[in-house]
Amino acid sequence: MPDSYILIKGATVISVEPSEGTPLYNWDILIENDRIKAVGRGLPLPEGDSSIIDAKNCIVTPGFVDGHHHMWQHLLRGITVDWSLFGYACHLRSVFGSLYTPDDVYFANYAAALSLLNNGVTTVLDHCHVINSPAHADAAVKGLKDAAIRGTFCYGLYQNPKEPGHFASTATDTFDQAARADDALRVRQEYFPSNDLQSSLLTFGIALNDPPTISREQNIGELDLARKLKARLSTVHASVVSDGTPKPEVVQNFVDAKLMGPDLVFSHGGWMTDDELAAVRNSGAGIIGTPETELQMGMGYPVVWKAADMGCHAGLGLDITSNQGNDFMAQMRLALQTQRAREYDRRTVQRDVGRKAVDVLRMATLGGAEVMDMGSLIGSIALGKKADLVIFRCDDIDTVPVVDPIATVVFHASSKNIDTVIVDGKIVKQNGRLVGVDWEFLHNQMIHRSQRLRDEAAKVDMEKAESLFRSIFEKGI
Ligand SMILES: [Zn+2]
Repeated sequence: MPDSYILIKGATVISVEPSEGTPLYNWDILIENDRIKAVGRGLPLPEGDSSIIDAKNCIVTPGFVDGHHHMWQHLLRGITVDWSLFGYACHLRSVFGSLYTPDDVYFANYAAALSLLNNGVTTVLDHCHVINSPAHADAAVKGLKDAAIRGTFCYGLYQNPKEPGHFASTATDTFDQAARADDALRVRQEYFPSNDLQSSLLTFGIALNDPPTISREQNIGELDLARKLKARLSTVHASVVSDGTPKPEVVQNFVDAKLMGPDLVFSHGGWMTDDELAAVRNSGAGIIGTPETELQMGMGYPVVWKAADMGCHAGLGLDITSNQGNDFMAQMRLALQTQRAREYDRRTVQRDVGRKAVDVLRMATLGGAEVMDMGSLIGSIALGKKADLVIFRCDDIDTVPVVDPIATVVFHASSKNIDTVIVDGKIVKQNGRLVGVDWEFLHNQMIHRSQRLRDEAAKVDMEKAESLFRSIFEKGI
């Protein structure tokens, strides 16, 4: 195949690395096929299959990396905004999750991935804990592949409870942990034969069960299984339930069993002990903070800044759009400003605050890439890296004047300013619109599937559903 080129001309480039907080003005970026071929001033356009993007008045950043997301929940947008973690675990996870059909999962994952791309998120870790049958797993993978987002699909070992007597329940007793392990192997072999980051947009991982719901031995057994399957990443919710003090949990279990490694992605971690954070750092594992749900749902104070200070890989995630939207700039601001509030030094008078906008931009890009063990491939605008880029057009009432380009991106821009998104050298959003999406069809699917799920959930005895989780939460607090 002949090489193809895209030349982005005259942009303000925030490369994240190596120039970090110093924007490069009036620069060009040359993309050759899927890679960044050159960055500099006055670059020529090679002959052949090539196109130019005029990026005057535009800021280019690396694509954002969302390291923790349950994409299947996209059909239930906004349901959880007034819920605690307990309410979420009972109602959304175990009731709604049990009612999803494979096609619901497909459309949810497909739509969620498109929404992420629309918001400049080019890489995602999908913690997929809605796999009620092999067909659910197929649908989840297909949704991500059809949207052409980069990421790691993490097959969830979680078994949704069957809704007794509910004809719409797709969760069964027969698709148990043994059947799930066989199916994870099937998915790994069928869709991810090489599981190679360099050549595949989507790779395979495992999402372990939640530590408070299973024993230490089960936790360890699941990680063993993930490694036997050569999962590229294993992810697990960590240290989300506590009486308000740090306590050792899943990280300590893995430390004791000598199982820590760079393939581990811990989400949340608000109640991790200092020893656990040190173990995360020493092993090359990483932590993803999801500020919006952590702050709302009593998961402890976001630990990502402390983790980053201690030398851990640390990134950000959106977690659930059954709660907030996919605006990654909003998550950056929330992460940054809550930390500033916490650290504000009232004993001295000074102009600057400690945490900088550029620090959170790094966390949202290269930081997340490092957590997902992809730091050499994505997360910054550097020669030879994959061409995953976001172009912000900054000529409207909300962005003019651009005084500090990093401030514009983190504090002023929203998805409407995202003119172009490029993943793996291919344009997926152009002139402010997603490319190749049949929105009318997708829109109708989302509306009627969401309604059906809510209608079916309304028939479930929620008190019974709560009893399943009540003891777990009461034990934790
Ligand atoms: Zn989660």
